[in-house]
Amino acid sequence: MNENSVLIVGSIGLDTIETPTQRQENKIGGSTTYSLIAASRNIPVSIVGIIGNDFPDEGHSIFNSYAKNLDDLQIVQGKTFRWGGRYHKNWDDRDTLYTELGVFSDFKPVLSDSNKNRSHIFLANIHPDLQQLVIQQNNNKDALIVIDTMNLWINIARDSLTNVLSDSNILLLNESEAQLLTKKENLSDSASAILDMGLDTVVIKKGSNGAELFSRNEHFSVGAYPIEKVVDPTGAGDTFGGALISALACDKTLTDSVIYGSSFASLCVEGFGSDKIQNVSERIINERVNFLQSTVKLDSTWVGI
Ligand code: AMP
Repeated sequence: MNENSVLIVGSIGLDTIETPTQRQENKIGGSTTYSLIAASRNIPVSIVGIIGNDFPDEGHSIFNSYAKNLDDLQIVQGKTFRWGGRYHKNWDDRDTLYTELGVFSDFKPVLSDSNKNRSHIFLANIHPDLQQLVIQQNNNKDALIVIDTMNLWINIARDSLTNVLSDSNILLLNESEAQLLTKKENLSDSASAILDMGLDTVVIKKGSNGAELFSRNEHFSVGAYPIEKVVDPTGAGDTFGGALISALACDKTLTDSVIYGSSFASLCVEGFGSDKIQNVSERIINERVNFLQSTVKLDSTWVGI
């Protein structure tokens, strides 16, 4: 029997999101929320994070239904993390309107004994020093560590980020972040430079152009599922990461895990916040998985590093 389990650390917050067509306030968001909902469909998930005493009942009910273990969710006096974002008319570019750290400003992740021994760890997007604190407390030296990040940390915490990358196995980032991190224009050059930082694998997310995975011995691309109507792109990357690590924890191949991540991410953008991924059927996910399997392209010329 598969006894694997996933630990997720990341942000938990209340988002106010403006798309070109609608605006909604105080959606339950943060990188942990999206990745938890996606990952927990297949595998038990524990989370480590922080919320304030203003966190709404709706949020508690999401965490109670999707997480197997909330021992390391700190609930403290003060305000929950809040983030506001506005999408441009092209639906791709986004401005951050505000980031209110609230209780996050004093957050120190502390792992209980059971969470020090998970088989898989997802370091969802938060400050790399907090990601590092989770790695430092992990006692399972065989744990597979998947890490996500964002341009903010590449810009303001590069040394901390480089440090945590060298202790991780798989990095997920988008094309512009890969260029910013490595200062290389070409995707393959960027990927080689990232692998040189000590990672086994890098997955570069390309939005409506799919994703590419580079490791020491393989390079393949997976297309994107054609979305009829984008409703809200928020959280697609976190959903991708949560779904991908859950597939890896179920012993799927890297190819199948990227396909599964892309399928889930395509569903995320079709709903506002996490609305759609909370209510999606297995049949719809499988249809997308089948479609994406036909888009895989292997690069036999990749010589790795
Ligand atoms: P994504 O669309 O994948 O970039 O993720 C969106 C989520 O990231 C939102 O739910 C936000 O609450 C969260 N978020 C935004 N800025 C930050 C930040 N600086 N640190 C951690 N989480 C953030």
